[in-house]
Order: sequence, then C-alpha cells, then structure tokens
Amino acid sequence: MTVRVPAKVNLQLAVGPLRDDGYHDLVNVFHAVSLFDEVTATEPGTPGTFTVRIEGESADHVPADGTNLAVRAAEALAKHAGQTGPAGHPYGADLLIRKAIPVAGGMAGGSADAAAALVACDALWGLGLSRADLMEIGAGIGSDVPFALLGGTAVGTGRGERLTPVPATGAFHWVFALADGGLSTPQVYGECDRLRADAGEEVAWPSASEPLMAALRDGDAPALGAALANDLQPAALALRPSLARTLDAGRDAGALGAIVSGSGPTCAFLAASADHARELSAALAATGVCRTAVTAQGPVPGAEIVQYEE
Ligand code: ATP
Repeated sequence: MTVRVPAKVNLQLAVGPLRDDGYHDLVNVFHAVSLFDEVTATEPGTPGTFTVRIEGESADHVPADGTNLAVRAAEALAKHAGQTGPAGHPYGADLLIRKAIPVAGGMAGGSADAAAALVACDALWGLGLSRADLMEIGAGIGSDVPFALLGGTAVGTGRGERLTPVPATGAFHWVFALADGGLSTPQVYGECDRLRADAGEEVAWPSASEPLMAALRDGDAPALGAALANDLQPAALALRPSLARTLDAGRDAGALGAIVSGSGPTCAFLAASADHARELSAALAATGVCRTAVTAQGPVPGAEIVQYEE
C-alpha cells in the first residue's frame, strides 16, 4: 500500500502571544505543493511489530526507530483500532519512506509521513476510517498532520490543527531553495519570543490576511506574492543570516514573492508561470545561495493512495 503525500508551504504564518501551555495561537494559511514523500506499508515479517526504513533526501537525518513520526502515527492508529487484526494478530506494519521533502526544512515532512502512514495502514488493515477520523488521530501526533491529510489550501487556527479550506483559483508555480542542514522548529519559536521580548513588542492576536484570501480566490499570483507573510521569518534569519542572501537572490531574479517557509531554512519563491519557475530555479542554483532549487505547483490534494498491491 503506497501513499503519496505533499509538503506544505505557509502562505501566511501569524504567530500570536505565547500561551500558558507553551504553544502560540496561530493563523496559518497552509498550501500543499507538489513535492512529495511516499510511504509504503506492508504486513510485517513479525506480526504486531512496526519497523521503518528511509530512502532519499537526507534519509540519514531521519530516525529509523519508534520515534519516527510515521511509526508513531501507525501505532496510534493500531491503538485506536483496538490492536487485533484480521487473523487475530495485533496490528503491525513494515514502513518504507521515500523522502523528497527536505528534513527539518519548514515544509512539515515528518508530519506528512505521519499522515501518509495513517492512510496506508488504514487501507492495509482494512479499517475504512473516514478522513475526519484520521485527522483527529493525526492531530494527536502533530499540529501539521491534519493538513497533510486534507491538502489544498486551508486556514489553520489554534495550534494550526483546526482547519477551514480556502477556495483558490488555478495553480500557483513555486520554487523552493533547499538549504544545507535544518532548523529546529522549537528553537525558531524560542528565538521569535526572544526577539519580541527584546523589542518590547505588544503581540497582536493573529488574523487571516484579507488581501491574501482575495489573491487566492482570484488566482492572482502577483497579489499573492505581495501578500505572503511569515512572523517566524525574522527569527529564522537571526539563526541563519545567510537566508537573507537567498531571499534577495530570488527577488533579484524576478520572484513575485520570497519568503522563508514555516520555520525554515527552506525559502519559497512564487513565480508567474511554470516557465518562469524553471528560470528562477536555474538562476537560484547558479548563484550558489542554496544547496539546490526545485520547482513545484500548488495547491495539490492531501495524502492519497497511489499503489495498491494484493
Ligand atoms: P515543520 O515545518 O512542521 O516545523 P520541518 O519540516 O521543519 O517541520 P521535519 O522534516 O518534519 O521538520 O522534521 C523535524 C524533525 O522530526 C527531524 O529533525 C527528525 O529528527 C524528526 N522526524 C521524525 N520522523 C520524521 C520523518 N518521518 N521525517 C522527517 N523527520 C522526522
């Protein structure tokens, strides 16, 4: 059972005040893009066990044990299902993850793999749970997991897990500049809090950007480029100053918008067309401001089965 799952870019990431539970209230406009991981689930060699192997992009930086988010998701699903599979054995799965989404890159790759594991194991075990059920189980693994199941474009509120789909017209063309090494999401939030405290900033309650919603509705790429916003960007730039050069290089090469993706260090550039995206990608790669640049388009659907073997 093989499931393909997209990466996300945050078109808007508005970070509210720090809550008592250590999280922030967010307004998070998620957009699923055609940069995919694949997760294959097969019946385990030993019934009731979970294993994981990882291939592809930065595979050696992804844990191959029970801390892997895909394994945690599969175990949570087994628990929800009541442990006992068709032959009276406890549920289990051997998972193979083929990564193309950058690791610790601000594109929610781990959450994507968790979402894909839920869909793959649901099908492997014949559970037939609804997307809504899988989204609820996924929310317990991480706040970005429900969106990887939903796909498209959506506004997330709370910690990002309460989702409302956003109507969007047409396709948008993107270039992603992948960096060497990742950035830790908790560290970037911590730096954001520190910068705000130093500046004595009064942190506003986050709200969805009206110009951004209008740009999506109208399929207006220049307006979308102008409306991209990420409150974590100053913190990501403080921790990784070289990203400022990456963003400048994309703007100089004619990007309609340039932004750090989520907690970074991946940078996202909006292009006017598929051809423009290819030109932008080549220009970024040539200037040496990133490890590599890839093109993608969005919105695309959430985790879906691409191959089914009896
Ligand atoms: P986000 O955008 O949600 O903040 P991210 O894209 O920056 O996340 P991930 O690629 O999801 O970061 O990974 C963050 C960390 O999670 C990694 O450093 C890795 O140790 C751990 N991890 C656990 N499972 C996975 C997985 N299946 N794929 C990638 N990372 C995983």
